[in-house]
Amino acid sequence: MIAIDVGGTTIKGALVDAAGVVRATEIAPTPRPGAERTVLEVASRLAAAAPGVGTNPVAVGIVSPGIVDPGGVVRIAVNLDWRDLPLAQLAEDALGLPAVVTHDVRGAGVGELRCGAGIGVRDLAVVQLGTGIASALVVHGELVVGAGSAAGEVGHLPVIPGGERCACGQEGCVEAYASGGAIARRYAARTGRPATAEQIVGLLGGDADADAVWAEAITALGRGVLSIVALLDPALVVLGGGVAAAGDALLEPLRGSITGTLTWRECPPIVVSPLGAEAGRLGAAVLAFERAGIPVDAASWRRA
Ligand SMILES: [Zn+2]
Repeated sequence: MIAIDVGGTTIKGALVDAAGVVRATEIAPTPRPGAERTVLEVASRLAAAAPGVGTNPVAVGIVSPGIVDPGGVVRIAVNLDWRDLPLAQLAEDALGLPAVVTHDVRGAGVGELRCGAGIGVRDLAVVQLGTGIASALVVHGELVVGAGSAAGEVGHLPVIPGGERCACGQEGCVEAYASGGAIARRYAARTGRPATAEQIVGLLGGDADADAVWAEAITALGRGVLSIVALLDPALVVLGGGVAAAGDALLEPLRGSITGTLTWRECPPIVVSPLGAEAGRLGAAVLAFERAGIPVDAASWRRA
C-alpha cells in the first residue's frame, strides 16, 4: 500500500504492508506551486521500489491539508495553492491503482481509531496541535465529515472575546493562541526573542514570558476541548501534532483548566497520541487498504 502525507513543507510517503510494516519511504520538499506533481512522483517512486522489497501495492492513500471532499477532490488548500484539485483521480490516472484522499487531521483520526489510542473507542475526539489546530471527531464509530467537508475545525472556535486576530479573520480563535506558530509568535512579540514552541516549553518554570504565553495557550485550548466535550461527550480525547510532544507540561495544566471549569460532569480522559507524527500516514494506509477492499487488522500494527 502506498501511503502519502502531504504537508506544507514536506511530502512523506511510505510503502506499508498488510502487517503495518513500512517497507520503503520517500520524502520530498513541498514545492509551491506544483505540489501535486511531487505527490505523484513520490507515489511513482514508491511503486517502482515495491518489487525490490517484495511487496505489491494495490491502492494509494493520501492525506492532505485543506478541505477535502469525500470524492477525493481538494476543494481548497491555501498553503499548497490547491483549489478544486481532483487529487484522487490524478493519482489513479498516474499509477493505475485505486486512490483515496482525505483531510490530514481526519486521516490522523483514522490512524488513532484503527491503530492508536482510539482502538475500540466509539466516541472519540482527536485534536491535532501543529502549525494549525483541527480535530477529527468520531461519533458512534464514524468520522464526522460535515455538509461541506469542514467539520472539526476546533482551531477556529472564538474563545477569547476581543482576542487576537486569527489568520481566518475572526478574533480570539483557539488557533491564534495555542498552535505551535501562535505560541512562537506570541512569545517573540512579548520578548523580542525568536523561539520555537518546543524551545518555549523547555523554558517553562524559569521564564515568566514563556509561562504566560503557555498559560494563555492552555486557557484557549481548554475552552476548545471543553466545547467538544460539551457537544459530543467523547469517551476519550487524544492530542496529537508537534505541540502535543510537550507531554505532561501540556496535559496536566490542560486537565486542570478543563476540570476547573466543568461543574456539571467529569472530564473524559485526555491523552497524548502514541502514534506521533505517524498518525496521518498510518490512517492513509488503513484507508488505502479499505479502498482496495482488503481487510486489515490495523490494531496489531502497534506492535509492528
Ligand atoms: Zn480562526
